[in-house]
Formats: sequence, C-alpha cells, structure tokens
Amino acid sequence: MLIAADDTDSSTWMCTTFLATELVRALPDLDLIGLPRLVRLNPAVPWKTRGNGAICIRMGRGIGQPRLCGRIGERDLFCYARSSEEPDPDEVMARCWPVVERWSQKDASDPGLVVTSRPPRPELYWRAVRVIIDREEAVSTLREAGARTFEINSGRGLIGAAAAAAWRPMDRTYEVLAYRERERWGRDRDVSREDIALLDQRFPSTFNNYEHLADRPAIVPHTTCPVLYGIRGDSPLELVRASASVASEPVDRWMLFITNQGTDDHIITEWDRLVPSSSYLVEGVLETLPATIPGGHVLFAMGTRDGRIDCAAYEPSKGFRDIVRRLRPGDRVQVMGELREAPRTLNIEKLNVLELAPSRVKVSNPSCPACGRRTKSAGRGQGYRCRECGIKGLRAETEEEPRQLSPGWYEPPVCARRHLSKPLKRMGVQSTIVV
Ligand code: ATP
Repeated sequence: MLIAADDTDSSTWMCTTFLATELVRALPDLDLIGLPRLVRLNPAVPWKTRGNGAICIRMGRGIGQPRLCGRIGERDLFCYARSSEEPDPDEVMARCWPVVERWSQKDASDPGLVVTSRPPRPELYWRAVRVIIDREEAVSTLREAGARTFEINSGRGLIGAAAAAAWRPMDRTYEVLAYRERERWGRDRDVSREDIALLDQRFPSTFNNYEHLADRPAIVPHTTCPVLYGIRGDSPLELVRASASVASEPVDRWMLFITNQGTDDHIITEWDRLVPSSSYLVEGVLETLPATIPGGHVLFAMGTRDGRIDCAAYEPSKGFRDIVRRLRPGDRVQVMGELREAPRTLNIEKLNVLELAPSRVKVSNPSCPACGRRTKSAGRGQGYRCRECGIKGLRAETEEEPRQLSPGWYEPPVCARRHLSKPLKRMGVQSTIVV
C-alpha cells in the first residue's frame, strides 16, 4: 500500500520528510516495503515552500531479508523487498489522515494525502518534475488508479503526493536524514564541522557534503525545521556508516530515503520551443560578452534554435560566475537550467563548454596610416580617428587572447546547486572546483 503526502509544512514549521517518519510511527503493525521515497518535483513551481519535495512510503507485510533503514526513538526500522499481502486501504487512510492533520501547518499549506495499492501512471511523475500541472490532472490520474485521497484547504498537495506515488525509481540516489529532539527545534544546531568536512574523503559515494573552498558544511539546514542534517549519496549502506561518523547533538530519529535528487530528471532535453517554468538543456553560440549587472549576476545572450536567449549565473553561484565571465562571443556551449518567465532568462545550473572561438583583445589604439601618430577614440562604437589628419573609422590593434577556459562541464558550488541537479561527480566527469 502506497502512502504519499505533500504540502504539509510552512517555511518556519516542519518538513514533509519528518511527516514520513510520523506515518511510519503510526503504523507499527505494518512493515516498510522498499525504502521511503523523497521525490523532488519541478523546482520552477512558484508556490513551493523550499525544495518542492513530496514523500511516499509503501507499507505491507514484509517477506524476505529485513534491511535496517532507520530508527525512531528506541525502535529500529527495517524494510523488506516484498510484501505478502496488502493492508486494507480504507483502514490505512483512517489511520494516516489524523497524522497529516496533526502535523500540517493548516493556515499556511494545502496538504494532500494519497493511499493507493496501485501506483498512478508514471507519466504523472515525469510531467510533475518537468512542467506545471493542475490539480485536476493529478486527481483524474489518482481516480484511474483507484486511490483514496484526503486533503485540507485547496488540497494542492495532492499533485505532489500523486507524483511521488507515481515515481518508479530508475536513476536514483539516497539520503539519510537525521532529526532533532523536539525541544531543540528552532535552536542552533550542534553538528561537527570537522566530521562533515571529512565525509567526501571517508565515504566517496556521498556528494554535496561540504563547501571546501568557502569552508562551510552543506548538509545542515539553516531553517527552524526538525532536520538536523541530511547526507546524500549513491550507496545506502555507506550513508548509514557516514551518518554514524558524524558527531552531533542527540539524534531523535533517522531514516534512509531513496530519492530522485541528483538525477537531472527535471531537465527537458528534447524540445521544440522553450516554455518558461521548466528546465532545459539548451545548446547555442554566445552572441555577447558576459556582463556583470548590479547585484553581481552575470548575463550573456546566446543564439539557440529557438532564438536568442539570455543566460544568467546568479550571485549565489559565487566563483562559478568567474567561469562564465571567461566565455567569449562565438563560443559554443550547452546550458542546463530553468527558464524564468520574467525576466526571461535561462538560470544556469550546469555549463558544458563545447568549442572555444578564437578571441582577440585590444592591445593599443591604431597608428594613423598617413602621419603615423597614435589615434584617439572617436566615441563608443565609432572606431578611432587621427586628430591631425582627420582620418576616421580606424580599428584598434588587437592580438589573439589566450583563453582561460577549457572545454568541458562546469557546475556551481555545492550550496548553489538544485536538489535535482546531477552533480558532475555522478556524471563521471572531473569536477572543476570553483568557490
Ligand atoms: P518542503 O520541501 O519543505 O517539503 P516544498 O518546497 O515541497 O516544501 P510545498 O509546501 O510542498 O513546498 O509546496 C509545493 C506545492 O506544489 C505542493 O502543493 C505540490 O503539490 C505542488 N506541486 C508540486 N509539483 C508541481 C507541479 N509540477 N505543478 C504544479 N504544482 C506542483
């Protein structure tokens, strides 16, 4: 039986993943089948609270080898590969909706809960991770699957819940989430920075742990939510060991999730037209020199098969902007990122430099061909002129610029990455470290 939920929290209270632990706690007579799922959806959704995450757990009567996947208080949690029978959906719903009601921030969220023995069509997941969909589409897909639903307010959370239940893990990663004791919520977190800094080295299948150049942990949230930290990686076993290696304040509970984080599932690679509020892989040729605008954002225009598009590396991407500043008109690149509506820009999540164009830089004003004297600028875009002879329209003397960039993939630092963005480490590409 799949149990999925979304949109229960506000920016200051709770976290949907914590609700997953509470749902498991509310069903002690049932077993987890497979790992709990944390499913990130279209990051361009304007009404998301934080990372547009929804959860789904599968409960049943486990058969086969139990695998440790968490602990709540004194109780170890195990999951099983298969279930021998399906619990009654109405009974499961009757036990789960009070949990959602109890933990939802009802005046700031639109909770949705789904209970279904049949997963909704997988296309629903692919659409919800890539485009904006309406509640009706989610509801009709749920109806088709024979799902039970519960909602509060507009019930918009049914979209995320349905999509989480529809996800069939293909490319997938894992995250171990550790939660704080209730009385510490909202207070400063006590987690060893040194242990976090060592995670990459000690547990090579983990990623996005530490901002080494800025000397900052990336796994500890700064919000008032119950999460103490979350470690991401490709190996569930290594994540459990990684978590045990981090000294911290008491961990009230922890749970291992299978997730679509770090998979690039949100990126549309085949498209005819670029429509805002989705993320794309776009290939093109630079038409302008990258320029820094007020606020520290770096922009350039790129010619694509859907016309000219402005690409932006925003200020929080820090040293990644230095890479972008090294691009020159004529360079051929691939950009992955979200297309914003207003201003219409492609927000660069990852950059693949395919081909560098020859670039020339000015070395001096030209000499006058008649008298040999140095010329002066005739004004912006007007070339140079000789004051003595009156000759105009001369061009600056230039030389070929040695390029400070090599072809290949580049990504922003850990703290500026999207949950869904596949780290270069997972792409098997040598990461270019930038501040
Ligand atoms: P958190 O990460 O803390 O769980 P959140 O960022 O997931 O919070 P929510 O409060 O869950 O934010 O709000 C996201 C809302 O957007 C949910 O109601 C969800 O159902 C909805 N949603 C998710 N994906 C889509 C989509 N593709 N189109 C339309 N709505 C969506």
